[in-house]
Amino acid sequence: MNKEAFNPFRMAQTQFDHVADILELNEPTRDLLRNPMREYHFNIPIRMDDGTSKVFRGFRVQHNDARGPCKGVIRFHPQETIDTVRALSMWMTWKCAVVDIPLGGGKGGVICDPHNLSAREQEQICRGWVRQLARVVGPLADVPAPDVMTSAQHMLWMLDEYEHIYGNKFPGFITGKPVGMGGSLGRTEATGFGVVYTLREALKQLNIKPEDMLASVQGFGNVAQYAIRLYSQLGGTVICVSCWDQNDQTSYSFKKKDGIDLDALLKITDRFGGIDKDKAKDMGYEILPGDAWIEQEVDILIPAALENQITVETAQKMSPRVKVIAEGANGPTTPEADKIIAERNIFLIPDFLANAGGVTCSYFEQVQSNMNYYWEKDEVLGKLDVKMTSAFLAVSDMARKRKLYMRDAAYVISVARVAQACSDRGWV
Ligand code: GLU
Repeated sequence: MNKEAFNPFRMAQTQFDHVADILELNEPTRDLLRNPMREYHFNIPIRMDDGTSKVFRGFRVQHNDARGPCKGVIRFHPQETIDTVRALSMWMTWKCAVVDIPLGGGKGGVICDPHNLSAREQEQICRGWVRQLARVVGPLADVPAPDVMTSAQHMLWMLDEYEHIYGNKFPGFITGKPVGMGGSLGRTEATGFGVVYTLREALKQLNIKPEDMLASVQGFGNVAQYAIRLYSQLGGTVICVSCWDQNDQTSYSFKKKDGIDLDALLKITDRFGGIDKDKAKDMGYEILPGDAWIEQEVDILIPAALENQITVETAQKMSPRVKVIAEGANGPTTPEADKIIAERNIFLIPDFLANAGGVTCSYFEQVQSNMNYYWEKDEVLGKLDVKMTSAFLAVSDMARKRKLYMRDAAYVISVARVAQACSDRGWV
């Protein structure tokens, strides 16, 4: 597969077109939903620490808000492209719809590399991003959240700028805030735990026990770490994780046949999820090439890094033992690779269902922020489990009844809900 040719927005549109055919959507509805409703492209000029100026490109894409304010993260990434942001905003629309929360889809980004920026410079980028968009985002319009290389601290700077502009408190403007500053307990765990809530339900349906299952995980950021934590608590064993190495600008897989030790690995991991190779070797890990995670003799694969990882080429390397793929990342699998997964009868928990725990908890955070009353962590995670489990059951029911691939079943539910909202509002 030629990585250069991969375009996540084309992929999101291909997935949508397929489901639009299944649902027999009319032409105006297709036209509306296969493209974002609004896009903002802008420059963010920053005074750097050394006194020079630098201009960063920023985006916000609002795919659809028929079911409620747009919701979606803002990502800082050196390879960010507008088509990635478009795809992710579209996936957010489906994600909010599949778990049935009253929000639409949006996504933002800034082309920058936080590894090379001081905290002050990053703060300026956050404030500049909000200044460019203050008129079109907000608690009732579009609600950002953290993602790849953005954190609770970035969200607080953005909230602070927004509140400066409007001269009042609007804690519902942004989610993923620090706990104690309008954030929700459980938000950090939510995406990774959500992946495992759906995985737990899938294993129940397949009549297999987590204790007997080996897993391999791509990525070692927030989603992967919490997915590994809960999966291990359920009795499962993870034997391989992969992560990006900032110094070598490539990724590596870390393998231990009898199971990785999450807490020990966390002690030698930097804040971007990079594991120290030398120390890992001393601890008895085999250090393998980045894509070795997918070739392991395991029952479960959890891609929890970036888009475009399970391609025709890499899917062919999957062990015949693989029974379940739980997609923690957004868009990890290409439509061609989907065909291989479907043919091999692997049970797929599609991205916008499996990783919907983050946005569901963001929704809980907004609700708590608006009430100015905050729940205990167990209450948040309990409510999250209920939402994720019922969304999973609705999708697997649909897949069974209509004999659909799980991704198509999830799409059918989401797209039908959004199309209905557009039609009810009289848009199409
Ligand atoms: N990163 C999560 C996602 O892509 C959370 C989004 C949010 O909280 O708005 O679904």
